[in-house]
Amino acid sequence: MLIDTHSHIYLKEFDADRDLVIERALNNSILKILLPNIDSHSVLEILRLSEKYRNICYPMIGLHPTSVKENYEEELSFINNWISKNKFIAIGEIGMDLYWDKTFVEEQKIAFNTQVQLSIKHNLPAVIHIRNAFAETFSVLESINKAKFSGVFHCFSGNLVDAQKAIEMGFLLGIGGVVTYKNASLQEIVKEIPLEKLVLETDSPYLPPVPFRGKRNESGYLIFIAEKIAEIKNISLNKVGEITSENARELFRLL
Ligand SMILES: [Zn+2]
Repeated sequence: MLIDTHSHIYLKEFDADRDLVIERALNNSILKILLPNIDSHSVLEILRLSEKYRNICYPMIGLHPTSVKENYEEELSFINNWISKNKFIAIGEIGMDLYWDKTFVEEQKIAFNTQVQLSIKHNLPAVIHIRNAFAETFSVLESINKAKFSGVFHCFSGNLVDAQKAIEMGFLLGIGGVVTYKNASLQEIVKEIPLEKLVLETDSPYLPPVPFRGKRNESGYLIFIAEKIAEIKNISLNKVGEITSENARELFRLL
């Protein structure tokens, strides 16, 4: 039994075959699929899917760092409004992304800080996206007076020191398709960090695991990620499924 803790199957890339994609995931023992929000345009589709696939798909709410633009305050109040209207399992995805565009770095910091505060206020885990911005992310988190956070560094791309720091702050690490690439660094981190601190994710339709690189990723491919982790840690696939699913159930309070 596996849980895909980060999947964008509500996006248009899946419009032609979304139901089949979910069926394939279920057939591959992926029993739950968690849906991180991007901005005000994605909320309704996420809610529709979570309604249709009750106890399989679960909604998050948040403003993605690459969607932080001139109108970010409007977007944040939109998100704030939704929180009281619906049950969400997490605030996500939020964070810092300085890979594509640094124009809105200050706005990104404000939006990230505001949403971490929101996750604390509503007692929800924070699902954090970081790209080329570990220093900035840690500096925002450290400015918030909180000994232990609850959440996940999704699609973890930092080094071992970043990993240990995140875990000390109370976060889990989300491990996806990148672990199957010829990337010694992430494999080393997976080897070093206890399974109790990891959750699995596909980040569909992005970052497909080997042997699907260059294709559209989907939640059913999570099994390839779990198999790679079992190989790296030299444990059974069942053990990987059992522990990482337990971690996800506990973090997101899934039944
Ligand atoms: Zn994502």
